[in-house]
Amino acid sequence: MSRIRSRNTHPEKLVRSVLHRAGFRFRLHVRGLPGRPDIVLPALRTVIFVHGCFWHRHEGCSNCTTPTHRREFWLAKLNGNVERDKRHLSELKKLGWRSLVLWECETQSERKLASCVERLRSIRAALKR
Ligand SMILES: [Zn+2]
Repeated sequence: MSRIRSRNTHPEKLVRSVLHRAGFRFRLHVRGLPGRPDIVLPALRTVIFVHGCFWHRHEGCSNCTTPTHRREFWLAKLNGNVERDKRHLSELKKLGWRSLVLWECETQSERKLASCVERLRSIRAALKR
């Protein structure tokens, strides 16, 4: 069964345009931060990772498959990605950054994107207090 997806809807672009419309200022792929986050909101000291469901192992997601050919190789590789992601999140936390993870499949959902924006708004509101 093939999934229907519109063209040119790169997950990260979707997130960026939603944030932009909501009036957030951000930078992209900042070097020097653990994991080189996809989107960085310096004013909110918050980063967003837009994770591919396959490569970053979105648990329970239908896109999170494991190739049957060279299965051991893939498992080692993919588990390594997950470990690295965990390490990056904890390093960011130590440096005082909040991290949000949006899964690729979630970027296809208006509701999920809206809840990400809500989350950022509440972070912003908390900082203003
Ligand atoms: Zn997913």
